[in-house]
Amino acid sequence: MTITNETHPDVDGFDALIERLGGRDWRDVGAAVESLRQVGGPARYAVGRALLTHPNARVRKGCADFMDHHGDDSCVPALAQAARHDPIAYVRRVAVHSLGCQRCKIAPLETDFVDLLIEVIKKDENARVCREAVYSLSQQKPDARLAAFLARLLNDPAVADAGLKKIAHYRRAADERARNASRARHEAARAGLPAPLPEPSAEKAVG
Ligand SMILES: [Zn+2]
Repeated sequence: MTITNETHPDVDGFDALIERLGGRDWRDVGAAVESLRQVGGPARYAVGRALLTHPNARVRKGCADFMDHHGDDSCVPALAQAARHDPIAYVRRVAVHSLGCQRCKIAPLETDFVDLLIEVIKKDENARVCREAVYSLSQQKPDARLAAFLARLLNDPAVADAGLKKIAHYRRAADERARNASRARHEAARAGLPAPLPEPSAEKAVG
């Protein structure tokens, strides 16, 4: 993301609001979030810039969290950069969450970041960041890269983090159930039978 005031000359007016995203009073944080949300695009841009440049880690974390709820695909470059390079682990973790989380957003992101999340899991040395990345990965659409990576991760004896493996296991089990259900539907359709009822999902167990 190239951030210059030339392309967005009016983003400096949001500095005071953005500062409040790092506050400890959740009501004040909520009021600042609402003001920024109402502005829309230019405020999102200013939040992205602060995510990459603000000296206070709590403000950067607040910026990443704002994007979890009010971000769109224009936020992905800033979130990706923060997920890879922010020096503070909790900022990287929230950036990873914001990229992968679909349930907090008004509209899901369209950008593909499977490769980015895999890179974070391979390179980040913080266990909580890695778990968040595996969870974010588990929220993405079924994908050959994802299936291969999770299989390798589950079978890798060098990966000792049980929490991380548990999330990967749930995702793989969910994929397996979806595949079996799809196979059963196809077989029923071929035999001219009514489609079987779906099995209850176990994905709620992951959190
Ligand atoms: Zn979220």
